[in-house]
Amino acid sequence: MAVLVMAEMQGQALALDATAKAVTAAQELGAVDLLVCGPDEAAQTAARLTGVAQVLQAGDAAYAQGSAENIAALLAGLATGYSHILAPATAYGRNILPRLAGLLDVMIIPDVVEILDAQTFRRPVYAGNALQTVRSQEALKVLTLRGTAFAPAPTGASAPVRAVAGPGDLGLSQPVEDRVLASERPELTSAKIVVSGGRGIGSESDFALIGALADKLGAALGASRAAVDSGFAPNDLQVGQTGKVVAPDLYIAIGISGAIQHLAGMKESKVIVAINKDEDAPIFQVADYGLVADLFQAVPELTDAL
Ligand code: FAD
Repeated sequence: MAVLVMAEMQGQALALDATAKAVTAAQELGAVDLLVCGPDEAAQTAARLTGVAQVLQAGDAAYAQGSAENIAALLAGLATGYSHILAPATAYGRNILPRLAGLLDVMIIPDVVEILDAQTFRRPVYAGNALQTVRSQEALKVLTLRGTAFAPAPTGASAPVRAVAGPGDLGLSQPVEDRVLASERPELTSAKIVVSGGRGIGSESDFALIGALADKLGAALGASRAAVDSGFAPNDLQVGQTGKVVAPDLYIAIGISGAIQHLAGMKESKVIVAINKDEDAPIFQVADYGLVADLFQAVPELTDAL
């Protein structure tokens, strides 16, 4: 069986970590071709991933800005001969693959965390409270994969790169603006350490306490939805069912109660630390280390001690 993986792009650059995790998953299914919608440099980076048989590079400007319309049509044209088409379950992949599934008239199988065999996949449902096993009899299966469930494929290989073309710009949509937030901190979904703040922080200015601790640890910053809705932290920091899914080595939840929708985004973290003044807060049920304390005292002390 041959499997086509759509590489994750961040602008013109390959998002190596997310792509490498998708390649690991795809290797369980067959020989892996990797589609890169981007320039030569991104294709060359992709070619270094171990386990990739060939890189297909679509360098046309129509595919450079993540247009779901254009890229789904490109993928549909390339689909013949593949048993599976996969992509990371990110904003990029989630935007494109459902449209591809629609074009191919097959069902999308989203958020896969385990591949049992070529037809059978496991995925979380009910905010991560249950795992659903899905068996698909489609001749071609279209899947998105949760990166937190797969280790990244190593680099060091040198796969051939082949140029591919599709229908180009379909004229169905036009990018207006790409506003990317610049941050010195690590990217949330691939960070080894995440420090997250919740409603307990109380204000946007006090969120700096969480930022100071994150910087001491070289960590990414996260937030609960309540913190985001209250305007303490920007939207792209939200962790949870309707935010980002993270599984770092260390997750520190500060002033977060531990609602199931938040746990859905972080409970696979290897070590969970919670700081909360309410000893009955549900977050302590999933925490490996819990500190019942006022965050305004404990967090500065912890930051100083570090
Ligand atoms: P709260 O539940 O209000 O908890 C605040 C905590 O701070 C409390 O435990 C309190 O004891 C503690 N605290 C207060 N002051 C201090 C102090 N001085 N020192 C120490 N501790 C203190 N939520 C998400 O996070 N992510 C999601 O993706 C998400 N998606 C959702 C999707 C749906 C469909 C729905 C219905 C809800 C979703 N939610 C999500 C919301 C979720 O249900 C909770 O409302 C939210 O997670 C609560 O955030 P919180 O823990 O910051 O706030």
